[in-house]
Amino acid sequence: MKTNIIKLRLPGSLYQRIMTDLNRPHDFAYERVGFIFGITTIINEHTRLITFNEYQPVDDDNYIEDDSVGARIGSRAIRSAMQQVMDQSCSAFHVHLHNHKGQPNPSGDDIAGLPPVIDSLANIDPDQPHGVLILSKDSFFAWVKVKGEIQLVIPEIISVVRYPMVIQFPSEKKVALNKLLLRQSFLGERSPAIFEHIKVGVVGLGGGGSHLVQQLAHLGIKHFTLFDFDKVEDSNHNRLIGAHFADIKLKLSKTEIAKRLILAINPTAKITIVNARWQEATDKLQQCEVVFGGVDTYGDRGQLEAECRRYLIPLIDIGMDVHETEQGFHISGQVILSMPSQPCMRCMGFINEDKLALEAAKYGKVGGRPQVVWPNGLLASSAVGIFTDLVTGWSGQKERVVYLAYDGNSGLISNHIRLEYLEPNCDHYTLEQLGPPKFIKL
Ligand SMILES: [Zn+2]
Ligand SMILES: [Zn+2]
Repeated sequence: MKTNIIKLRLPGSLYQRIMTDLNRPHDFAYERVGFIFGITTIINEHTRLITFNEYQPVDDDNYIEDDSVGARIGSRAIRSAMQQVMDQSCSAFHVHLHNHKGQPNPSGDDIAGLPPVIDSLANIDPDQPHGVLILSKDSFFAWVKVKGEIQLVIPEIISVVRYPMVIQFPSEKKVALNKLLLRQSFLGERSPAIFEHIKVGVVGLGGGGSHLVQQLAHLGIKHFTLFDFDKVEDSNHNRLIGAHFADIKLKLSKTEIAKRLILAINPTAKITIVNARWQEATDKLQQCEVVFGGVDTYGDRGQLEAECRRYLIPLIDIGMDVHETEQGFHISGQVILSMPSQPCMRCMGFINEDKLALEAAKYGKVGGRPQVVWPNGLLASSAVGIFTDLVTGWSGQKERVVYLAYDGNSGLISNHIRLEYLEPNCDHYTLEQLGPPKFIKL
């Protein structure tokens, strides 16, 4: 087992700021430099997640004229980054751009000049990982210094959380498009590798989640983390994809059924199951690059969204409902993509205090809300479509905000009307609130 697994995540807004700044021409320096700062979460003894939330450009007069290297910065710029590490006890990374496409590699100057910069940062706060991030036009390279480790560590994954995501596995080998995935080659040359390496979480494996895992397995997703505390029983057999009649008697857990379903489609899949509420295994959730939510209540949705925002994880939520009106029964549903630092479910008006209060008042009284198989299938299919575009960018859509409304009586799925009135930014969750919550001692 690898001893150190590092994941780096940058919000899209921060990435945009870095790229804009590093692309500005300088009077004499060939390339620009900056520093990014982030919060490190120790997920387990092997795994650290660094979520970045701040960028510090280097002022023009802090560059030193030196023809032998692309960019030399003065000690003032480095000291200012060191000061930030001291004040915030955060992780700091030196960042610069190699202006080409494809994966960048450190140059001779980088190999000689950058490790000492990392050491200066590590001397200030050795408990935090610090490093170097090299950007290209569409990819990354990084080195990370971890306490107790002599060698610099290359992260397992570097990702930019926006629509579409930029995802790089620095030690990625090209995955050949095998016969099984031939018909989806339009998703892009890198799509088989992305599907093979990306970690996907599915919270709730009932009517919605069971459809999701089935389709994700066919798509070629290999790493699943499945959360559900429930078992199959008579009352959910009408919509639980993958459940056999005999499973009811055996009282199989929904996670076991989902695992069996995935492995039947993709025998090499790596599946982690959590037979508990996701709140009891947040470390497993934090490791996922994208999470699907198929949970029952607004309260649980809100909590899941808050957790995903803290760790810069896009959350794709699906759900359906049946209402009785004077005209009869009406089926409705939604697919929401909750992207960190973009409008959340509260911004979209999907979650509000009234709904939460109503739900809390009814708690325990409503047994067996109506649920059927086909709306869940439609919503799950739409969600898998959103996911596929989010991680591959095949459709060319950019900065897409997703709130799809399903009218189960007409069978139509369309953009929710509230999208037209949406503010672009979310005030409910900010980038200052990344990582584990800090409790201030009074
Ligand atoms: Zn370089
Ligand atoms: Zn919001």
